[in-house]
Amino acid sequence: MKKLLLHSCCGPCSTVVIERLKDRFDVTVFYCNPNIEPFEEYEKRKEEQKKVCKFFNIPFVDVDYDNSSWREFVSGLENEKEGGKRCEKCFVFRLKQTAEYAKAHNFELFATTLSVSPHKNTEVINAVGEQISKELDIEFLAESFKKKDGYLRSINLSKELNLYRQNYCGCLFSKRD
Ligand code: SF4
Repeated sequence: MKKLLLHSCCGPCSTVVIERLKDRFDVTVFYCNPNIEPFEEYEKRKEEQKKVCKFFNIPFVDVDYDNSSWREFVSGLENEKEGGKRCEKCFVFRLKQTAEYAKAHNFELFATTLSVSPHKNTEVINAVGEQISKELDIEFLAESFKKKDGYLRSINLSKELNLYRQNYCGCLFSKRD
């Protein structure tokens, strides 16, 4: 099977994606989410991600919490509404790191769990992934994981695994709004 590096935004969203991909690819989870604030919340979500990886027996790669670089990257867009330009840049920040790591560690393609959420625009996510794929010359798996009740399945699996499910996207701007 091809080696796939899966950027995961959180444990709950990753459940359904891992379930759908694990028999098609050799999946490794890449937890790259310096957008999550405050740090305690980031750590809490990371622990839930580890639980999911353990359940599915999937390797887990932890990434540095470089929140200051992320903040700098989205600066000027603090007052954007969720789903706007700040989010698009946030996708770029996380998917670029994913693709770079994938390339450096001999993965054949990369993907992301971001499209599970009904609050996230799949077309924007896939356009970002495809652009990075071209720039770095590594395949991107452009799928919409919210299709076929993907979000509902993620909720049900999260309940089964007794996972913490957050009530805001990640950054303090999304918490504020
Ligand atoms: S709302 Fe979510 S996707 Fe948008 S910038 Fe904040 S953390 Fe990133």
